[in-house]
Amino acid sequence: MKNITLITLTPPKLSTEHIQQKISCIRGHRERIFQVFAEEHSGKKIFHNYGQGGAGLTFLFGCVEESIKQFEKYCSAKNISKNNPICVIGAGCYGLLTACTLAYKGYNVKIVAKQTENLPSHNGAGFFFPRHRRSSTPEEIKEYQLHSMASFIAYQKVINGQHPFIARGPCLLPAYYDLSINPGLEPFIKKGLLPEPKKVRITFGGSTIHEVMHYQILFINAHQLMEELETARKNFNIPIEQRTIQSFDELEEAIIFNCAGLGARQLANDNLVNPVQGHLIALYNQPKPEELNYLLNVKAPVDHARGIEPHKLIYFTPKGQGLLGITFLRGKKALQTNEHEFEKMLTRAQAFFGY
Ligand SMILES: Cc1cc2nc3c(=O)[nH]c(=O)nc-3n(C[C@H](O)[C@H](O)[C@H](O)COP(=O)(O)OP(=O)(O)OC[C@H]3O[C@@H](n4cnc5c(N)ncnc54)[C@H](O)[C@@H]3O)c2cc1C
Repeated sequence: MKNITLITLTPPKLSTEHIQQKISCIRGHRERIFQVFAEEHSGKKIFHNYGQGGAGLTFLFGCVEESIKQFEKYCSAKNISKNNPICVIGAGCYGLLTACTLAYKGYNVKIVAKQTENLPSHNGAGFFFPRHRRSSTPEEIKEYQLHSMASFIAYQKVINGQHPFIARGPCLLPAYYDLSINPGLEPFIKKGLLPEPKKVRITFGGSTIHEVMHYQILFINAHQLMEELETARKNFNIPIEQRTIQSFDELEEAIIFNCAGLGARQLANDNLVNPVQGHLIALYNQPKPEELNYLLNVKAPVDHARGIEPHKLIYFTPKGQGLLGITFLRGKKALQTNEHEFEKMLTRAQAFFGY
């Protein structure tokens, strides 16, 4: 234990005057795996892209590239011209990136969205988390790996200033994970895209020391990414209509991209899409940004006296002045506000940082 490097980190400040906003937000999580496929529907061609749940920022570029590849194959098979009107449903990161990529390629595209503000796409914590599920089949694992690798390469382009219309959002940062958590980075480490992880000890200045795995990972600042996409949408003159669609038949366009997130459950009649609620706390009045430039994905030390249950997660990312998380509430619970989760989250974070 003594031979393992000890790293001293600055802790975020967590008392009441350091709490800016309590956020609860619902992910559109599809059981097994997300959906990126095309189908015919009453004479229309629908390109579905939904269900990425709590890892949508991770798979974003890969899934959008795949969806547009399917569309371009269809266009060349059917000899469809670039002037043909296309409608994208959704103004989250999937809808915006799809619409902007189509416009960049010269297609005639518009967006229809129920909501444009305070979406899961704005609220994402920002971990690049390419891990497949425990029950994934070899085919599903291949799909997770394919789309996360394509996304990683696209995020690298953004970092290197080589993306045609996105300049901000991702960066590489140190991240400390609980030893029992596998972030799914092996393929990236094997290819030399990320360094080998190291076991280290971290402390926040007090007597509490945690043994963790030190990775270098992609952090995706969802606010910055959404600002970039919204600016690109305006620059490409892509119109956006605020409206709720109950059925694809309501749209006059014959080519539709379904990027409706949780809304895809009803639109695509896909009962495998389920709500998973997440709680986050945005912090402010914090130490200097360069002191909090790290990520944590750890488990709270169990303390029954303080009401800390086993296996409960703590996320920290440097989004804004600092973001604390997280919960994954499923079933009926996902649709209630669950205010008590914020207190529980703060208690376990305080225990972890040694307050
Ligand atoms: C708390 C939390 C933490 C997260 N952390 C991470 C993370 O660390 N790493 C990571 O990779 N990902 C993370 N994510 C996941 C990621 O943020 C989402 O997967 C991603 O933003 C989904 O984008 P989207 O465009 O598909 O959906 P959304 O952002 O939900 O957008 C859906 C759009 O469709 C519109 N819409 C829906 N139904 C209809 C309809 N019927 N008619 C018209 N419009 C409709 C909505 O109004 C909206 O504009 C997190 C998400 C949450 C909530």
